[in-house]
Amino acid sequence: MFNAILIEREGGRNVARLRKIDDGALPAGNVTVRVEYSTMNYKDGLLIASDLPLIASFPMVPGIDIAGVVERSEDPRWIAGDRVVLNGYGLGERHWGGLAQRARVDGDWLVRLSDAFTTRQAAAIGTAGYTAMLCVLRLEKHGVRPGDGDILVTGASGGVGSVAISLLAKLGYRVIASTGRPHEADYLKALGAAELIDRTTLAEPGPPMQSERWAAAIDTAGSHTLVNVIAGIRYGGIVAATGLAQGVDLPGTLYPFILRNITLSGVDSVMQPIAVREEAWARLARDLDVAKLESMVEEIGLGDVIDRAPRLLAGQIRGRTVVDVNRG
Ligand code: NDP
Repeated sequence: MFNAILIEREGGRNVARLRKIDDGALPAGNVTVRVEYSTMNYKDGLLIASDLPLIASFPMVPGIDIAGVVERSEDPRWIAGDRVVLNGYGLGERHWGGLAQRARVDGDWLVRLSDAFTTRQAAAIGTAGYTAMLCVLRLEKHGVRPGDGDILVTGASGGVGSVAISLLAKLGYRVIASTGRPHEADYLKALGAAELIDRTTLAEPGPPMQSERWAAAIDTAGSHTLVNVIAGIRYGGIVAATGLAQGVDLPGTLYPFILRNITLSGVDSVMQPIAVREEAWARLARDLDVAKLESMVEEIGLGDVIDRAPRLLAGQIRGRTVVDVNRG
């Protein structure tokens, strides 16, 4: 038996509870992982505390991140004792996820955990941090360099935003943090933000072309925020768009694209091929300051997850939430 958060469909609603589950109920898969830590990302908040139709079948164990140790494997690439990390691949939506003491997964989805990180640190990074790294890689592949000018990060005090700021600052970029939480200024500056802007200045419809303020941006908000960000990017710049904290719409014009040569580049973390994941994790091992990572973390037990989900969706949680699945 093992402990897990289980979401069941009852009376037309999703209901999440902490449950004891029999090992025999684990889904199909060729690797069994003893989960040590999972996390709570925005997506986990949606899975647990919203009725959005994200879950393909019930009952479902949420948790889009797993950091743990292989317990048993029928996949020749993995043996008992291997330390592994898994982000996305439909965990919590199509396949039971990491908010549990045990998981059974496909060996194709696993990334070997670098000696640079403990399983707790790997969870602290989680989908949010790995996505932030994918966004930084996207800017680099576009040719953005630290001397090119300021980089804007929206949703700054969230998980993706916090890790993005810390990575960019360590790489030598001057980072502007857009936030709705001015009281987090000390936190954001300690992560490496040079300046803060109030997110409300980006939240409403604005002119289609605005003064060229940023060389590039990482956007987690979407909607009017993303459109205003695009309108303020310097000639030839890029926006890596990965989130929808404000909304999924894109209510803008083509002007910045065809008059300023701007690139809008979508970043998905869920279905990235393993080689891209390995590149991102190798770069995290090189470029992420683990002391700053620790400053982002709040650790909770499995029993605290359900109460926390609505607060996460309401934007009340700063940085990264690590879940010790062996703590009630
Ligand atoms: P968090 O909840 O940790 O952070 C989101 C942040 O967005 C908040 O902390 C807040 O920052 C800001 N925010 C909240 N509401 C609004 C709003 N109405 N307008 C503008 N900003 C807002 O989430 P994550 O960092 O885990 O994820 C961020 C986004 O990226 C989510 O939409 C998530 O679904 C998406 N995502 C997508 C991935 C992919 O594969 N495409 C992978 C990972 C995340 P502040 O208070 O500082 O303004």
